[in-house]
Amino acid sequence: MTGRPSANDLVEAALEHFDAAAVALADGPWREAAWSAWFSAGCHADMGWLERTASLRARPDTAASGAFAWLIVARALRTEPPPLALWQDPRRGRVARYAWGLDYHLAMREPLARLAEAIRRAAGLTAPPRGFVDTAPVPEKELAARAGLGFVGRNTLVITDLDGSWFSLGGLALPWRPAGAAPYDPATAAHAADRGCGTCRRCRSACPTGALVEDRMLDARRCIAWATIECRGEIPETLRGRLHRWLAGCDLCQECCPWNGRRPDTRTPRTAFDPEQHAPLLVAALALSPDSFRKRYGSSAVARLGWTRWIRNALCAAATAPADADVRAAVRRHLDSSDAVVRATALWALRRLDAGSDEESDSP
Ligand code: SF4
Ligand code: SF4
Repeated sequence: MTGRPSANDLVEAALEHFDAAAVALADGPWREAAWSAWFSAGCHADMGWLERTASLRARPDTAASGAFAWLIVARALRTEPPPLALWQDPRRGRVARYAWGLDYHLAMREPLARLAEAIRRAAGLTAPPRGFVDTAPVPEKELAARAGLGFVGRNTLVITDLDGSWFSLGGLALPWRPAGAAPYDPATAAHAADRGCGTCRRCRSACPTGALVEDRMLDARRCIAWATIECRGEIPETLRGRLHRWLAGCDLCQECCPWNGRRPDTRTPRTAFDPEQHAPLLVAALALSPDSFRKRYGSSAVARLGWTRWIRNALCAAATAPADADVRAAVRRHLDSSDAVVRATALWALRRLDAGSDEESDSP
């Protein structure tokens, strides 16, 4: 790479570190009206940080980054398929694949920094381009689709031919307009999305809580991933008994996508399934102390939940597990927790176990 790198140069450099890459120009039109309608409808739930940065996400060209373009990179999320007997065991919880292995923020940080430094040198910049992995108010998925990395599926995720939606995104804000970057055409993007999903609606059917309220529109208030990862405080009653044993995230609208699981090889190796980490017995999940939780999940994205949310989620999952003496005892020990959310959720879970509700017995 010499001189101000072109889009091709940038992608070539990025592929030395990542599984896929593409360049999006900071040109409109932007989807301000769609963002505004989404926020007005309250679909962002309690994610006030999203609302506070809404204008930057809706118009990333006006963001303080001074970006003329973005180099978007993807790291494949490769996981060994979990054994069905364990994955569907009603006594076990489930951790979504985004949180298997090393936390993707950490896994992407170093290669992104190396890439940024290589670009700094090649472009003659005084400082490396600013990088982000969920760390800047940038609409990463929208930029990835604009860059041509893939199309936006009905499940709201970008679907690539890398491996469907199984990947993590990051990027670099570029202070110049790389030659050869393709301009964004909304009609072409919409056509690609229509053609990509075709008549398939599996994700919308697979979502057990109706969170995909329209094609390509998520109501976070109904989403298990929001409830387990983002929701502060108690999980709303409407979702509490419907977590389908997910302890961190939810993969149901991805597991069913025909674009996922097609590609056998990527530069990122597969993460092996670990029953203790990825499908722990609920009684074991509830037995973790703050220290043992940190030891077990310290390097994974699960750690970002913190112990309180982990236990809260495990209590919700346990409430729909077979109500044997071990589960009851594991729930009961949190009744006198010093944490009010844990205490309240434990009480709710115990009442539910006592009532013997079978509203949610197993799959999906
Ligand atoms: S993550 Fe789960 S709850 Fe959320 S939209 Fe997808 S299937 Fe529905
Ligand atoms: S499951 Fe079907 S409708 Fe949903 S994103 Fe995948 S291809 Fe599109």
